[in-house]
Amino acid sequence: MSPRLPSVTARQAVQVLEATGFERIHQEVLHIHSLLLSEYGDRTWQSDDPVETLVSAILSQNTNDVNRDRAYERMRERFPTWEAVRDAPVKGLVEAISLAGLGPTKAPRIQEALRRITAERGEIALDFLADLPLEEARAWLTSIPGVGPKTAAIVLLFALGRPVFPVDTHIHRLSRRLGLIPQQATREQAHELLEALAPPEIYYPFHINLIAHGRAVCHAQRPECMRCILQEHCAYFASGGRGSAIRDQLSGIKRGTANAYRPTDRNLQAGDQRGDQLCLSP
Ligand code: SF4
Repeated sequence: MSPRLPSVTARQAVQVLEATGFERIHQEVLHIHSLLLSEYGDRTWQSDDPVETLVSAILSQNTNDVNRDRAYERMRERFPTWEAVRDAPVKGLVEAISLAGLGPTKAPRIQEALRRITAERGEIALDFLADLPLEEARAWLTSIPGVGPKTAAIVLLFALGRPVFPVDTHIHRLSRRLGLIPQQATREQAHELLEALAPPEIYYPFHINLIAHGRAVCHAQRPECMRCILQEHCAYFASGGRGSAIRDQLSGIKRGTANAYRPTDRNLQAGDQRGDQLCLSP
């Protein structure tokens, strides 16, 4: 399937993209996806309850997955139905979700979302979004206070399997470092650009594997470029890396410090050539 053209909301970023070669970057996306598949494996989409996904996504704002999940479980223990969550005293809900942080912001946000769903649908369910035209479904979700493009995209992709590409902090960082989108592209533009560049059938596995790579190797601080499978496709690596992170790692190799690239057992068994070449470099 050929990539879709993004909507006019990312017009400026798309112009930059077109100027730098849409087809070339589209091919890069496919190569990178294939490398990530070989490293992290394929991911099979499974539907989730969209209300659960929405509430979980609100809880996950500015926290990690562990704290989000613990807060979610505690909330469901105290308030077993969505009606109970919606009608709970705010103070009680704030306390129940405190592990996720920002309880005074998130609790009213969750309740407002549940009230809005009830008022518009007569029940707390979001399955109807599966049958709405995609842009209508996205607009419906983002009309809820506190639900931005990322949260809406998470609900649409993860719960309903709709062809949208959520962009979190890892994906935003990686796609700019790799040179898939302009450095100055905002996260919202990144949604549109990556949806245009990647074929919809790879959105789910590509999204999950980019996050896995961002967590495992391409950290925000000191990305581990020397053991990265995407080196050949990475603009950041080709440029030597801002902040000399790559040069530091290379000099670490020469000095034999803790920052040096160390081939893993698995790489050694596989005869990792990159490691050998780097360790032998002058
Ligand atoms: S080469 Fe470095 S900057 Fe590029 S994707 Fe890999 S870890 Fe990230």
